Amino acid sequence: MAETQEKVIQIAGSITVDELAGALGLSVTALIGELFKNGIVATINQRLDYETASIIIDELGMKDVRLERKNTSTQTSNEHRELSEKAVPRPPVVAVMGHVDHGKTTLLDTLLGKKTVESEAGGITQHISAYQLKHNDKLITFLDTPGHEAFAAIRQHGALLTDIVVIVVAADDGVKPQTIEAIKFAQSANAKIIVAINKIDREGADIPRTMADLAQNGLQPEEWGGDVVMVPVSAKKNENLDKLLDMILLTADLEELKADEDIPSEGLVIESHMEVGKGSVVNLLVTGGELKVGEYVVAGSTYGKVRTMLDFRGKPKGKATPSTPVIVTGFKDLPNFGDRFIEVADEKTARKMALLNAQSEADASASANVTSSDLLRMMNVADNSKVFNVIIKGDVLGSVTSVVDSLKLIDTKGEITLNIVATGVGDITENDVYMAAGDNTVIYGFNVTVPVNIAKMAARDGVAIRTFKVIYELLDDAKASMSELLDAEVVEEDMGEMKVMGVFRVEKTALIAGGEMLKGKVSVGMRGRVIRNKKYLGEVEIESVQKEKIDVKELIEKEVGGLSMKTDKKIQLEVGDRIKFFTREVKKRTL
Ligand code: GDP
Repeated sequence: MAETQEKVIQIAGSITVDELAGALGLSVTALIGELFKNGIVATINQRLDYETASIIIDELGMKDVRLERKNTSTQTSNEHRELSEKAVPRPPVVAVMGHVDHGKTTLLDTLLGKKTVESEAGGITQHISAYQLKHNDKLITFLDTPGHEAFAAIRQHGALLTDIVVIVVAADDGVKPQTIEAIKFAQSANAKIIVAINKIDREGADIPRTMADLAQNGLQPEEWGGDVVMVPVSAKKNENLDKLLDMILLTADLEELKADEDIPSEGLVIESHMEVGKGSVVNLLVTGGELKVGEYVVAGSTYGKVRTMLDFRGKPKGKATPSTPVIVTGFKDLPNFGDRFIEVADEKTARKMALLNAQSEADASASANVTSSDLLRMMNVADNSKVFNVIIKGDVLGSVTSVVDSLKLIDTKGEITLNIVATGVGDITENDVYMAAGDNTVIYGFNVTVPVNIAKMAARDGVAIRTFKVIYELLDDAKASMSELLDAEVVEEDMGEMKVMGVFRVEKTALIAGGEMLKGKVSVGMRGRVIRNKKYLGEVEIESVQKEKIDVKELIEKEVGGLSMKTDKKIQLEVGDRIKFFTREVKKRTL
């Protein structure tokens, strides 16, 4: 790519209108005007998040500005939004984790007064559910986290999720591998830890030994002078659970958990699935603002208008404040769990942001360094994607001719048409901008200047003006721009094969099955082709891999395990089918 004077603006969470205007070299009024055009009524001190800032920069046509997310905290720690003075207390978000069979489910069920234990289809659960309960008149939000992988996904997004992790340890079994995993998770997520020493009604229960076990693993009991609260309980017999809830609230109080309510709502996707007649059904956890029915929301590469909103019990809810889990319908497509959602002004902004996210996701996997404005340009060219429109202005006729001639010599692999809309001698004019507007045309200036009023006009109309003094730089820039228009190359690699031995769930877009690996390996993120008697039935994407009910990284040859898979259409999987795994990489090409 050509090295034009690219300007990098780093955004740590959000940036104020004032700061962004300064960074862009614009007046605050101009920026507020641009925001207004995009449906955002902003004041000078208003904070804009990364997505909004990138859209605005794109709208301004500032192709030489690149936004970068700046991580202020370490990758794994909670990313707290900067709170205003108006922030109000919010309920704690509590995750219950622990080794399998130590009593997580029982604990939650007893706390919530649930009679039915939801079955874990085929021993594989991958979604988080959320509940709320009231204790001493205060709300507590609980996250049920059957698979640790779900947490990994959320952590990857660097998002705030859990304030407190309740680690359940069976007093008759002590610290086990998943207990340690839970401790590590809580520590890396910067969450407060409370230990529930469970099954104290059991004969073999040994509380001091369990505490010693925990101490050896870095959790020093408060009773022994450490800083970790440990509450002996019996989830089954409902013993001492009030004390546990007291401790959760006490810890929450000490943490002074707060959130802003008068900001556009935001939060996280904690579960999503399709339902007949309803379309996408998405569980959200609100972390800021107030989510209401009728609002437009974006999550990852999808968006929608909140059509219905229910609380975790399925009762209609008009608005949801921070730390509230809700179930909404209205998303056009299924967002991924762990995706952050945000409220936006209108459908147009929602669509644009979703596209931008889609592109940056694709981009991140192609590890390319594309500016957000490039992304939008790539998206806008859906139909005439193979035409690169340019207007050439030069200081003298000779330079215009040589720029034109050299541009024509670029080998576009027969895939891209260079369309020279106009050429001319002299500075860039109003007329050039008019011609370029709305048509994705780049104005190249060679040894000419851009009068300030023209630059402003171009910025307003989203027209890219790029000036150069060295012809090779101009050509490099044109090449890079045309490369963006090339179709990506798809590279696939075979990874392994499984013989299906059990089918546990067949849904429209999801499959859960188990089997034996005949060869190679399978891991999360891989794709697979379902084959029956040499006939191709459809493609799946691996969402989680389990071995003996435990999430694992991969299964290798001869191993038996379970897979949960995402599909585009329903695949009636049967015992005996083969799944051939492969990876698919979409590679950007360059000229
Ligand atoms: P999870 O895998 O951590 O969700 O564990 P479950 O909640 O499914 O519990 C595993 C088994 O332990 C079940 O048979 C429960 O009935 C039993 N259990 C859970 N809590 C207690 C308890 O406090 N006392 C006793 N005696 N059994 C318990």
